[in-house]
Amino acid sequence: MRLVPSPFRFDDSYARALPGLYEPWHAASVPAPSLVVANEALASELGIPTDWLASPGGLELLAGNARAEGSVPIAMAYAGHQFGGYSPRLGDGRALLLGEIFDRSGIRRDVHLKGSGRTPFARGGDGKAALGPMLREYLMGEAMHALGIPTTRALAVIATGESIVREEKLPGAVLVRVAASHLRVGTFEYAAAGGDRALLRRLLDYAIERHFPEAAGAESPALAFYAAVVARQAELVARWMAVGFIHGVMNTDNTTISGETIDYGPCAFMDRHDPRTVFSSIDHGGRYAFGNQPGILQWNLARLAEALLPLIDEDEARAVARATPILEAYAERFQTNWQAALAAKLGLSPDVVDSAPAKALREGLSPFMSEQRVDHTLFFRRLSGAVRGDEAPARALFAEPKAFDAWAEDWRALLPPGREERTATASAMDRVNPIYIPRNHRVEEALEAATRGDLAPFRSLLGVLARPFEERPGLEAFSEPAPPDAPPHRTYCGT
Ligand code: AMP
Ligand code: MG
Repeated sequence: MRLVPSPFRFDDSYARALPGLYEPWHAASVPAPSLVVANEALASELGIPTDWLASPGGLELLAGNARAEGSVPIAMAYAGHQFGGYSPRLGDGRALLLGEIFDRSGIRRDVHLKGSGRTPFARGGDGKAALGPMLREYLMGEAMHALGIPTTRALAVIATGESIVREEKLPGAVLVRVAASHLRVGTFEYAAAGGDRALLRRLLDYAIERHFPEAAGAESPALAFYAAVVARQAELVARWMAVGFIHGVMNTDNTTISGETIDYGPCAFMDRHDPRTVFSSIDHGGRYAFGNQPGILQWNLARLAEALLPLIDEDEARAVARATPILEAYAERFQTNWQAALAAKLGLSPDVVDSAPAKALREGLSPFMSEQRVDHTLFFRRLSGAVRGDEAPARALFAEPKAFDAWAEDWRALLPPGREERTATASAMDRVNPIYIPRNHRVEEALEAATRGDLAPFRSLLGVLARPFEERPGLEAFSEPAPPDAPPHRTYCGT
């Protein structure tokens, strides 16, 4: 494959450290790469000139038609529990790790292609990706990033110039993804299942060095590592819950070690608050429903513990006894993060947050919101208006406005009494309660237009979502949910 000059200085620490956990591979070449969207802010973090992304060499490299010095492209191997069932060999079926680069802060980050052709892990798949779903991943990742939620991000989407076959013919694309790493729970499951303990140990050492260096000096690095992953994931899922994000396919291969959100396939934000909300067309049992996410994460973390057992103690029973308290502590960790997030969303200050009425208010909130059919995002956002003295917009969201009055009386009693404090509280609430989220109908509209060649709606939506907490005149339509008579939203995997 042709070498092109590039501003990336690729390293290949994963490939060097972990033979057995990947297949060297190269991308399929594509006929006519063209830049659809490039992430200037991320490029600047990475020290990459944005005009290089659009240059012929940049496009050839990012579309997989050429290779950069130092890049050893590989398809990573991983296993995974998908909807609870174990698949021993998943891996990058249509993706490649090009290598790692150091960002401006000196942090090592993966540069990865998705949609770059079949690999030895492709099974029946065509290895390709359609433009719409790749733009969707771009958009959702940027929205999450702007919301302050750890996430992989897209550097660019490149149209390949070929048509790919789904239910209809669609324009093909490659997504260039940047991640803290692509280590997954499924990577550990794969290494453990092979029975090669030395390899599993090398994977652990690699993950520790990359993500949790402090665990290296612990009495049991494997246990310290496990506790650190549990802590990060407990924080991540609490953040998802706070904004009403539904990942949609929380299989263990889509659960990172770094604590970043990854793989935006069937994800969506919930409109009307309801823990049973499911958007994914394949999630018939509601396994990955909004309200199940914290529990599912614990289930995934149990699979990680199982993979780590041989490194925790030679005696399996002892290893289980040591890992179990950490897994059990997850529930409390999640609760602590979640309760803190809710307190901030409701404007409750530290001096009242642990009071009995404040606890009662938080505990009753989700059932109350579902019963009243309120929009998750607007409910919290409009509360700051109520703190400022205008309750009508929040009240208007309720199926029974009188129910709001009773709830608001209890809530108001917990707010600070002084005018100045209230103003500060309202501003603090606006910094945690977004007004703009990727509303499903807006996302669909933007992706449909993009698939037809009109990128204007995609770009304007991206601009709105880049500043989700800052209310701006003229953008009212972006804060509203789909009209009540809109058809139910559906999302799809593997596109
Ligand atoms: P995902 O649901 O995107 O996390 O993917 C699950 C697995 O299916 C991974 O191993 C992917 O690499 C693989 N996969 C998804 N779509 C394709 C495709 N079009 N061609 C080959 N492999 C795919
Ligand atoms: Mg995946």
